[in-house]
Amino acid sequence: MTLRIGSLLLLAGGAAWAAPRPAAAQQPADTALVASYRATAGRLIAAATADTAAWLRLAELTDRFGSRISGSESLERALDWVLDEMRRDGLESVHGERAMVPHWVRGSESLDLVEPRRGRLPMLGLGRSVGTPPEGITAPVLVVSDSNELAAHAAEARGRIVLFDAPYVSYGETVRYRVRGAVLASRLGAVAALLRSVSPFDMSTPHTGTTAYDSSARPIPFAAISIEDAAMLHRMQGRGQPVVVTLKMEARTLPDVPSRNVVAELRGTERPDEVVVISGHLDSWDVGTGAMDDGGGFVAAWQALLTMKRLGLRPRRTVRLVGWTNEEYGTRGGLAYRDAHAPDLGKHDLAIESDGGVFRPIGFGFTGSDSAFAVVRAIGGLLAPIGADTITRGGGGTDIGPIMQRGVPGMGLNADGSRYFWYHHSDADTVDKLDPREMAKCVAAMAVMAYVVADLPGQLPRGGAPPAGE
Ligand SMILES: [Zn+2]
Repeated sequence: MTLRIGSLLLLAGGAAWAAPRPAAAQQPADTALVASYRATAGRLIAAATADTAAWLRLAELTDRFGSRISGSESLERALDWVLDEMRRDGLESVHGERAMVPHWVRGSESLDLVEPRRGRLPMLGLGRSVGTPPEGITAPVLVVSDSNELAAHAAEARGRIVLFDAPYVSYGETVRYRVRGAVLASRLGAVAALLRSVSPFDMSTPHTGTTAYDSSARPIPFAAISIEDAAMLHRMQGRGQPVVVTLKMEARTLPDVPSRNVVAELRGTERPDEVVVISGHLDSWDVGTGAMDDGGGFVAAWQALLTMKRLGLRPRRTVRLVGWTNEEYGTRGGLAYRDAHAPDLGKHDLAIESDGGVFRPIGFGFTGSDSAFAVVRAIGGLLAPIGADTITRGGGGTDIGPIMQRGVPGMGLNADGSRYFWYHHSDADTVDKLDPREMAKCVAAMAVMAYVVADLPGQLPRGGAPPAGE
């Protein structure tokens, strides 16, 4: 399939970049070509970092609409506002592209410690969790550190609420408990499950996120608690004290509802049907204001397109801004885009997503062919003045994942991630966590990468294995 896409591109584009040439001969030529963009890159960087417009716009978006979970009115009103603003900006082809999205609602919820003492514990139900009966579930707690410990105490899980107090190793490693915890506990007869928030640090602020069920076990309610309280319940159990809690959750899943990806463009001068996508997702969880995850990523991409427009820089190909819907629990925006644009995915040169927080940019992670990697690494060199010149292998984004699996080269903005998971999916994900000057550098990085790729004489070479499915 990859080979077929590659040869189609050769036929369609006939571009020099797509021609199979020995890597050794190709790279110096690519580097020289990219170097010819140095002055333009300098203009983009200077304009993007001259003010803090991106941060101010993100502050307005998040202050006006608050959190924007899929299925909510606040998300749809935010999308309307973004479309209006993009039209006011004078961007081209401004429109929404329909996607049906899941609609999970939290309702009211609470967790009360009953024994060994009474007290209310901050909690957040996990996305897609089922609820409890109205009177809640009152049961003794079994605290485990990991799945091995759960297996060792399998006989004690029946009728209890299992708390996974898994120490944070990395997001990718530890999030497994959030995704699988309910199934692991339910298989052993547990009546509900709790999770130490997947975060290296918090201040009694639980972190939500999506969970999953499968046909191997009855769905049981599943909620995150703070790191502090997980540690406390663990200590209580260690002392041999009975730990009993009452969990109440109204969470439920309603029928799917229509939503939209929002789109705006700067149409290309020579090959407007060929596209470079720059993007972030506009939905968030229903806590905090989704500033870091991922209003900031979308607004940085938006401001990158505006920076090109305001400088009168119109590349050969079209740069398409996409604000995705439903990244957080379903990826329906990315899937709908893949399906709606299936016939023209061969003309998607590159898709860029920012979804790791618009902190100090470091560079980009890239997934695509070796020869394309050489090109984008050379372009990355243009970002040395803002320290965003580290281009690494591997990268993309959840929303662009579906088109990457169809062979579109993908790229994710990499930023300093040291604080990202402190705030991620919690009430603390608010705009004050982002530095206006760092965010402006993210705008610059996206503008330079997107502009140069869109303006190169030939398409980025395709090839290489598409990323594994999610
Ligand atoms: Zn995100």
